[in-house]
Amino acid sequence: MTEVFARERTMHDLHTRRVRVLRTTPVAPSMVRITLGGDDLARFSADGPADHVKVFFPDPETGVLTVPEPGGFRKPRAEGAPAIILRDYTPLAFRPDAEGGPELDLDFVLHGDHGVAAAWAARAKPGDELGIGGPRASVLAPAGADSAIIVADESALPAATRWLQAFDASVPVTGLFFVKDPETSAYLDGADGEKRELHWFTGADRASALEAALRALPIGERTFVFLAGEATTLIPLRRYLRRELGLSKAQADVHGYWKRGEVALDHHAPLDPADPED
Ligand SMILES: Cc1cc2nc3c(=O)[nH]c(=O)nc-3n(C[C@H](O)[C@H](O)[C@H](O)COP(=O)(O)OP(=O)(O)OC[C@H]3O[C@@H](n4cnc5c(N)ncnc54)[C@H](O)[C@@H]3O)c2cc1C
Repeated sequence: MTEVFARERTMHDLHTRRVRVLRTTPVAPSMVRITLGGDDLARFSADGPADHVKVFFPDPETGVLTVPEPGGFRKPRAEGAPAIILRDYTPLAFRPDAEGGPELDLDFVLHGDHGVAAAWAARAKPGDELGIGGPRASVLAPAGADSAIIVADESALPAATRWLQAFDASVPVTGLFFVKDPETSAYLDGADGEKRELHWFTGADRASALEAALRALPIGERTFVFLAGEATTLIPLRRYLRRELGLSKAQADVHGYWKRGEVALDHHAPLDPADPED
C-alpha cells in the first residue's frame, strides 16, 4: 500500500534571503503572525503542507544578523566568526503579488524569553530584519489517501492549517490538537466543516486524552496520519501507529518540532531514540 502514500516532491534551488517585518498580528493567546516582505522573496515557493524554512535571527547580545550563503550554516565556522542562529518555521502563506511586493506569513509560538526565536517574535516590529533559508524541497499531500488525521500542538498549527487546505474538500480530515490554552482553538476558526472535524485537548491531561482520541479513530488502509509537535509527547502515539498498528513511515508521518528542555532540536534526529526509524 506504500504507493497510496507516495508524495510528489519538488527540489528547489537553495536560497538564503534577507527579509523585513511588515506587520505583526496576534492570532491566538500565545501566537503571533509575522508578515515578512522584501525583494529577496521574489521566486520564493513552498507548495508542500509541511514545508519548512530555516529562519536566521539576530544575535540577542550584539543585535547582529548573520545570514549565511545557501547551505553555509552547515559548514564549520571560523573562530571568532559571528554566530549563526537559526530555527525551523512553517511558511504558512506566501502572496507573491501583494500590493506592496511579495509577502510571507510565519506564525510564532510565544513560549517565553528562554528561546531566541520566541523572544525575538514577542518584540518584533515593522522594519526588523530576519534571514530565511529554503525551503530545500516541497513535498505534496499523498494523492491516494482517502482520509487523513492531523495531530498538532501550537507549533504545528501552521502546518495543520496547510494540511487542512492540502486535501481535496471531499477527503475527510480529522484534526486532533493538543494545546495549553483553550482559546487557541480560535486559530482554526472557520476551518471545520462537513469533512473537517476538529478536536481540541487542553489542560494537564491533554496528552493522555489525545492518545485515547487517536486510539478511538478508525484508521483504514488509505488513511494518512501526520503528527507534529513536542517530541516526547508524540513517542507513545508513534509507537501505537507504527508498532501496534504496523503502519509504514509513509502512512504515519511523525515529526518532533521541539523537545521540552532542548534548545534548537534537530528534527532529523530520531524522535524515539529507543526505536529509530527503519
Ligand atoms: C519542520 C518544523 C516546522 C516548525 N514550524 C513552526 C512554526 O511554524 N511555528 C512555531 O512556533 N514553531 C515551529 N517549529 C518549532 C520551532 O522550530 C521550535 O519551537 C524552536 O525550538 C523555537 O525556537 P526558540 O529559539 O524559541 O526556542 P529554543 O531556543 O529552541 O528552546 C528554548 C527552550 O524553549 C523550549 N521550547 C521550544 N519551542 C517551544 C514551544 N513551541 N513551546 C514551548 N516551549 C518551547 C525548549 O524546550 C527549550 O527548553 C517548527 C519546527 C520544525 C522542525
